[in-house]
Amino acid sequence: MNEGDRPLDPATLAVHLGRPPARSGAPVNPPVAMSTTFRVGGAIEYGRVDNETWGALEAAIGGLEGGRALAFASGMGAVTAVFETLPTPGRVVVAGDAYVGTREYLSDVAGRGRLRFRTVDVADTDATLQACAELAEGPARPSGARGQFGAGGLLWLESPTNPLLAVADLDALVAGAHALGMDVIVDNTFATPLLQRPLSFGADVVVHSGTKFIAGHSDVLLGLTVTARDEVHELLRIRRTLHGAIPGPWEAWLALRGLRTLAVRLERAEANAAELARRLSAHPRVERIYYPGLPSDAGHERARAQMAGFGAMVSFEVAGGAAGADAVVAALSLITPATSLGGVESLLERRARHPGEEALPAALLRFSVGLEHVEDLWDDLEQALAAPF
Ligand SMILES: *Cc1c(COP(=O)(O)O)cnc(C)c1O
Repeated sequence: MNEGDRPLDPATLAVHLGRPPARSGAPVNPPVAMSTTFRVGGAIEYGRVDNETWGALEAAIGGLEGGRALAFASGMGAVTAVFETLPTPGRVVVAGDAYVGTREYLSDVAGRGRLRFRTVDVADTDATLQACAELAEGPARPSGARGQFGAGGLLWLESPTNPLLAVADLDALVAGAHALGMDVIVDNTFATPLLQRPLSFGADVVVHSGTKFIAGHSDVLLGLTVTARDEVHELLRIRRTLHGAIPGPWEAWLALRGLRTLAVRLERAEANAAELARRLSAHPRVERIYYPGLPSDAGHERARAQMAGFGAMVSFEVAGGAAGADAVVAALSLITPATSLGGVESLLERRARHPGEEALPAALLRFSVGLEHVEDLWDDLEQALAAPF
């Protein structure tokens, strides 16, 4: 397929990876392998352990991220599988505004004495590494040395974070955490493998909520882990098999189908996000905006250096506190007031209404910018921002 030495562009790989072998008469798409059991003597015996349709999705995501992927029933299925590999008691440094489910899980297991964790502002490299040094406590390992996965603790990054869009310096944090003997995980849900490849910065594991941009249509729950370390891949595979957090074959197939259009969806959504962020930042009712694509954003330079684009998530605070923000959401007519993100349709919600999100600014609105025409989105935002409060 390749012309000369130039590697295929990720946008092309997203279309082509995970297809059946190119044989005459072969289907162009992988089958949805709806069977729980398989005749003996083959590579797959039981449907909780492996499935051909998962394999196609895993080949595609693994190829894009530069490692080996495993599909899970949900993003949280993938997130918890990683934490469950930790020897007890685990030690974790985590982004303070990491996905709320990730933090709730950590509080839950910490409450049962199985690990200790600290939250940090991952945009602050020095503070993050300081927290790592305090929690790691172990003997420093020479740079590049590897012990049992997670034995030296985990640094759990999101970048950009959900929902404050903070950008972590992946190069510096991976190197610093590794020097302390810690392993580094990056939740790459907001960036997708098309905008950021954390394994290329040395991260040990990438996790995704495939529910979001990868599947892309708000109709599938799915999660993924990706790692270039074979022994870590095997640890995660064991977690998946024993915990049973497996995706249905149909869900895996839909996620792969979503991936085929990820590049064009992102292109449109990101262009919309950039334009709407620019307009929102000049709107009198908007008090603060968070979007790494804006040159004024604290994470702009870093995002430019380590990402191939700024993504389609925009957060902003409006005047009038929680009531003011609720009034804006209630006045929307085109943009859907709903949680979640990464679908073709624009979604917007006030995050602090959720339990566990009370530390966020009360008037923070998280906006998942979709594929509608940008002027239709702006008209709706403008009339909603005029709502009395
Ligand atoms: C949604 C989300 C998750 C959890 O994924 P589910 O598919 O809902 O289980 C994890 N991380 C981030 C950043 C998310 O946005």
